[in-house]
Amino acid sequence: MPKQFQLKKWALIGALSLTFGLAAVSTSVFAANNEITVKADTVTVRMGPGLTYAAMGEVKQGTALDVIGHRNAWYKVRLASNQIGWVPSWLIDHNDASTTSAKIATVTKQASIYAYADAKSQVIGTLESGATANVIYQDGDWSQLNYNHQAVWVKSNTLKVSDQTVTLTPATQIAIKADPKPKNAILVTTRIDTNVREAAGMNAKVITQVKKGTKLTVLSQSNDWYRVQTADDKVGYVASWTADTPNSAKAKAATKLSEATIVLDPGHGGTDVGALSQSGKYEKTYTLATAQRIAAKLKDAGANVIFTRSTDTFVDLASRPIKAAKAHADAFISIHFDSSPEANSATGFTTYYYDNSKDYQLASDLSASLKGLPLDDRGVAFGNFEVLRENTQPSVLLEMGYINNSKDFKSISSPQYQEEVADRVAKGLSNYFKDK
Ligand SMILES: [Zn+2]
Repeated sequence: MPKQFQLKKWALIGALSLTFGLAAVSTSVFAANNEITVKADTVTVRMGPGLTYAAMGEVKQGTALDVIGHRNAWYKVRLASNQIGWVPSWLIDHNDASTTSAKIATVTKQASIYAYADAKSQVIGTLESGATANVIYQDGDWSQLNYNHQAVWVKSNTLKVSDQTVTLTPATQIAIKADPKPKNAILVTTRIDTNVREAAGMNAKVITQVKKGTKLTVLSQSNDWYRVQTADDKVGYVASWTADTPNSAKAKAATKLSEATIVLDPGHGGTDVGALSQSGKYEKTYTLATAQRIAAKLKDAGANVIFTRSTDTFVDLASRPIKAAKAHADAFISIHFDSSPEANSATGFTTYYYDNSKDYQLASDLSASLKGLPLDDRGVAFGNFEVLRENTQPSVLLEMGYINNSKDFKSISSPQYQEEVADRVAKGLSNYFKDK
């Protein structure tokens, strides 16, 4: 890519169209105007890129914001009042950008046109080498263009982007395609034949009708309406009471937890197997399984979840707190299972913290929520663990039972216990962020 056109990885914007001579060429300065839309019900705007910064105010779902920078998965935005603040990027929908100018690019080799920035998504067509494309957005390897008045994606390495911009009249602006389905898509099933409407309300225009038993992807929820995406990528609203949710917690409104970045640290991994059960089962297996269940609950609540490891691989201890610092994590939770020198000589779970001022409140809120698990509660304790000691972020280490105690191991290895731990950790975190 030419030096003079240094794209901000996430934010380069303009407007669109594979216009093939449709729009007037303009040599005016390219306005990097990236307008985004709030997709969560409510998002708190903060003074800086993280939950630790003071709140400045709130923006409601559907609010358009101008992005002027980014850091650590947070967007720096300009509010309507011209104030500058920060919002978490994962609660924001940047595909709803409405833009009026684009960078002109030449297609350098035949390129497939994709529905989303994903090589596994639907191929809509092909661009021939030498064609002109107008770039509305670039995100690393992917560039968004207009194609037959739809926003589509091609691989960035098939384009040579010039410094020339085009300005489009409103009539030639693109119809933005539906958002890519979220990775952890929430599906609901309609209980009756249902209308999909343009807006949340009985009087809104009907876009399409779906039969009883249709699966719909929920993009967001506001009051009693779901914003949904159909199998053929139509986006609209259905009344929530006309559909069943497999897990109603999944479609709840945004909370403070939904703004949080949580680093989960499944203890051990790879060659480091951890402690052993009496039958020789590895601690690393259950720390990962439990962390994955916790992650699912946290993601359901809207939180941004980062793993120190998400597979059975060796990750050295020193790198784990560094990952939390880099992510500016609002909480770091390490998952382990204890072991006593002699089998069956100890039982129960413990919540460890290291730093009284930074970690204790988190430990206390998690411990309060873990109370009630079927194993003995050994309470909150100081623990001089490297992942806590070297951590700049609020951090705890949970020892969720003695792996070499046969009663504890029965729980540790059971999905029911892991699921209950996950529920309680999510609840405890939610209380922690409420308290703050
Ligand atoms: Zn361990």
